[in-house]
Amino acid sequence: MKILVPVKRVIDYNVKVRVKADNTGVELANVKMSMNPFDEIAVEEALRIREAGNAEEVLVVSIGPAQAQETLRTALAMGADRAILVKTDEAVEPLAIAKILKAIVDEENPGLVLLGKQAIDNDCNQTGQMLAALLGWPQGTFASEVVLGDGSVNVTREIDGGLETVKLNLPAVVSADLRLNEPRYASLPNIMKAKRKPLDTKEPSDYGVDTARRVTTLKVEEPSKREAGVIVETVEELVTKLRDEAGVI
Ligand code: AMP
Repeated sequence: MKILVPVKRVIDYNVKVRVKADNTGVELANVKMSMNPFDEIAVEEALRIREAGNAEEVLVVSIGPAQAQETLRTALAMGADRAILVKTDEAVEPLAIAKILKAIVDEENPGLVLLGKQAIDNDCNQTGQMLAALLGWPQGTFASEVVLGDGSVNVTREIDGGLETVKLNLPAVVSADLRLNEPRYASLPNIMKAKRKPLDTKEPSDYGVDTARRVTTLKVEEPSKREAGVIVETVEELVTKLRDEAGVI
């Protein structure tokens, strides 16, 4: 079985994101970029499945600018076998990403697509669900445990107030949540080896997908600043303030 893992290049999670002065988006110039953290978890899980003898190949795909190659090389250094970069300088919406991924699935026939539950830049949490719908495949989202069976996969899902375990017939789409695993670091020899692993470059038009945006961003703003709190001496004072000043009781 082949596992397909889509990985997105996003602003590093440690970076304090700044809104552009003209409010059209966030500042990307000279900002550290990394692999979306949930995608690292998806790569790790795919590698563990291959290492357990349940898959032969881990193929990673990124849709993004030329620099997304670095993200793919990171995944190859972690242990993925092969990569495809679908090069575009436009910001592509989840539906178009899902359509490109569907075209790649049609070509590559993976038994499992393992992706992140959401990209931390747009927080959409849509691509996996849309891909499963386009393919007509079962989906297990927010996975905290993935156990492969014979022709099926059991996915334990993190849902409100607990866990739910579903059994999906393969092929299937699974999206990784935070607690699924702890991704490995790439060792220096593996980073060197990754430079020689195959990386194909394509364009969205190679897959016949129109990536024109359907959604227009009107304005991006910083969240309003929190005002300083006050310390009250007694419960009575708290109740008075809540009633008379905040008007919430
Ligand atoms: P989203 O629906 O945008 O929150 O993204 C969910 C998941 O879809 C991500 O964690 C990635 O695994 C995958 N994905 C989204 N955008 C891309 C992209 N440009 N390239 C590769 N994978 C992507």
